[in-house]
Amino acid sequence: MDPSSLSNPQECKVTSLNLVLSVNFEKSQLQGYVEVASQIVKEGTESLILDTNQLEISHCNDVTSNPINFKLSEEHKVFGKALIISIPEGLRSVGKEFIVRVYYNTTVDSNALQWLTKDQTAGKLHPYLFSQCQAIHARSLVPCQDSPSNKVKYQAEITVPKPLTALMSALSTGKTESTDSSVFTFTQEIPIPTYLIAIVVGDLESRVIGPRSKVWSEPSMVAAAEYEFANTEKFIAVGEDLLTPYVWGRYDILLLPPSFPYGGMENPLLTFVTPTLLAGDRSLEGVVAHEIAHSWCGNLVTNKYWSEFFLNEGFTVFVERKILGRLYGEEMFDFEAMNGLKHLHDDVDLFTHKHQEELTALIPNLNGIDPDDAFSSVPYEKGFNLLCYLQSLVGVADFEAWLKSYISKFSYQSIVATQMKDYFIEYFTEKGKSEQISVVNWNDWFNKPGMPIEQVVFVSPAAKVAKDLAEITWIKDQGVNATKDDIKSFKTQQIILFLDTLIHSTSEKPLSVDVLEKMDSLYGFTDVVNSEYKFRWQTLCLHSGLKRIEPKVVEFLISQGRMKFVRPLYRELNKVNPELAKSTFNKYKSQYHIIASKMVAKDLGL
Ligand SMILES: [Zn+2]
Repeated sequence: MDPSSLSNPQECKVTSLNLVLSVNFEKSQLQGYVEVASQIVKEGTESLILDTNQLEISHCNDVTSNPINFKLSEEHKVFGKALIISIPEGLRSVGKEFIVRVYYNTTVDSNALQWLTKDQTAGKLHPYLFSQCQAIHARSLVPCQDSPSNKVKYQAEITVPKPLTALMSALSTGKTESTDSSVFTFTQEIPIPTYLIAIVVGDLESRVIGPRSKVWSEPSMVAAAEYEFANTEKFIAVGEDLLTPYVWGRYDILLLPPSFPYGGMENPLLTFVTPTLLAGDRSLEGVVAHEIAHSWCGNLVTNKYWSEFFLNEGFTVFVERKILGRLYGEEMFDFEAMNGLKHLHDDVDLFTHKHQEELTALIPNLNGIDPDDAFSSVPYEKGFNLLCYLQSLVGVADFEAWLKSYISKFSYQSIVATQMKDYFIEYFTEKGKSEQISVVNWNDWFNKPGMPIEQVVFVSPAAKVAKDLAEITWIKDQGVNATKDDIKSFKTQQIILFLDTLIHSTSEKPLSVDVLEKMDSLYGFTDVVNSEYKFRWQTLCLHSGLKRIEPKVVEFLISQGRMKFVRPLYRELNKVNPELAKSTFNKYKSQYHIIASKMVAKDLGL
């Protein structure tokens, strides 16, 4: 049983959804019905139970329009309401198919959906809609069995006002037009967990960026996006080489409006990304490697429950770093691993400080907990470290062969960690390596809170160069020997590490304003486009009290709404100029995604 869902796939399993919806921008609603096909898996099951959250259900019919009885449960504040639909008596035996149409509409409180007004878009001419269903928000878009343990196919028929375009995490199968609206149809033939259902509606244009890829965005950003993501096919090709053939057909990228609160979301066939990746020089294209790695880890082999999230994210980070290593030099794997370990350290400290240490176990107990509240780098980085440790026991070549085999064995399934463990043991016992792997303390790896129990040592000379520049040239020697050429040959990750090291190592004793001015005159950080540099540089300046950075910070805060940047920057600005932080937020809060504006308000004590 999935503790994050109220539904009953273990009794009556949903196999496909057919969404027939129209998009109403005036009311900020999706309206229509979903046809749910299900199959009885437990003899005598009387009801099909679906998850819903903040939906208005009007009625249920069978396919011949006869009414079907249903009721809604009491509301659970995190998991929503169960929609309990009576299965007709003749259809309650194992193997029988039950099809029901649920007529409903979403509401303004459906938190999977963000409705943007014209003014909140880049073009300012048309409204815009996008969804974010992970982890448990699909139930506020469509009544469904909203558990990653159950995979479904889906079709959709979406009516939108002209001249807007609809896209989904599915193959596009056509478009028909009437006087003032267009109908877009889609099909997703590969069963997916419901958190991967995605929709976007807006003034969208596309450019071809590869043999199976297009990039989509509002017209004003499409040329920049085309340039930035031109290397996408290389990442997919390395992924295929490492793992198995790419099965989804297309791999498109959707560049969202600036208020998209996340970095990226691996919706199948259509990765969603933030426009803060537009650096103008492809220096942030590596983020796409992560989303591409999800095409196998997560989207094909899926965590059965959210407590096993490391099966999605730990594996994805591992594959992402393998891809980056192959494309940018093997050292990049260790370099990124070292950075990741630092983030893991920070999060373990943070959760321990909040007395939530149990959430730092690789498989935490999420009973009654919103998976979003447990979110941290733990499943990503601790999961990654487990795989590095296992790799160190059996050797790189054999581990990569196992990984390929693991993906092909568990593709199209939802699994738990013990299945992964059992397959690892089975595979390497057969290969005569049972002694090497007998040392693994699986129980502690999976269940013990805190840092990884075994630590693989990562080595990166490039990281040392970046750290030395921060610690010796700038912190110790105050920049007296610094020159313009210091960072000329640095890779993106080195500049990020350089700035991170400065931030961390000067948190007690900030650099002086004079030192920062010198750094800026040599490296030109104030005017960079790269959002990762800008975010760190502004943090550093606020911390040192460099007043002239404040208007630049405001400019950055109101130009995008990615939580990774806006939350910490508002907090820093609030420390040095609370009036400016609060007035800026109050003036622009409607521009942010609802989740982001709630979080920032909390951070600012509003
Ligand atoms: Zn991910």
